[in-house]
Amino acid sequence: MSATAASTRISRFGFVNAHFVREDDGLTVIDTMLPGSAKAILQAAERLGGPIVRIALTHAHMDHIGSLDALAAALPDAEVVISARDARFLEKDMTLDPGESREKLRGGYPGARTRPTRTLVEGDRVGSLEVIATPGHTPGHVAFLDPRDRTIYAGDVFTTVGGVATSARLNPRFPFSRMATWSPAIDLDSARRLLALEPARLAPGHGKVVEQPAAEMERAIAKAAR
Ligand SMILES: [Zn+2]
Repeated sequence: MSATAASTRISRFGFVNAHFVREDDGLTVIDTMLPGSAKAILQAAERLGGPIVRIALTHAHMDHIGSLDALAAALPDAEVVISARDARFLEKDMTLDPGESREKLRGGYPGARTRPTRTLVEGDRVGSLEVIATPGHTPGHVAFLDPRDRTIYAGDVFTTVGGVATSARLNPRFPFSRMATWSPAIDLDSARRLLALEPARLAPGHGKVVEQPAAEMERAIAKAAR
């Protein structure tokens, strides 16, 4: 576990993350890692003085929803939230909408039995967190901004394994996020959007939390735009 005042990160294999955000009524967990991670998530919440009252998902890829069913079963009262768009992938509806890019959906979308208790759109709140629409990696990818400390929970828009990178460009140090990206161009616009929010901390789906990340985010965006 690595913690700051605002949130705590746990990881599997050092690079598949879940983040715990403290609220007055308990904890929000952001993403549920790979299958088989529920016990580790519940134990971490207990060490943090739990309970988990919200399960918030950035997108419907396997390494983010893998332990959703097991976790939701253990926490029947927890709110489960995901974007309305990516909620369809939980039901294995792999269709693209008429207005969407025809690019190929990539990465693992295993689906889940669990249904969200609420679906999210831009501007919604999850506890203190603001929902930021960041499509591109998946059609309905969202990030979460904590306005209390300006941490951005970026999902897979940015990774920090071997340095800050976008998932819009193949990063030899961590190629998986680009390999699983639906639309690199849309994803890159979302990366710009997150930078424009002037984050004080970048908490990604993969890799360590980076403090004062703006310069590195800008560099990563410029590299991907070339
Ligand atoms: Zn992903």
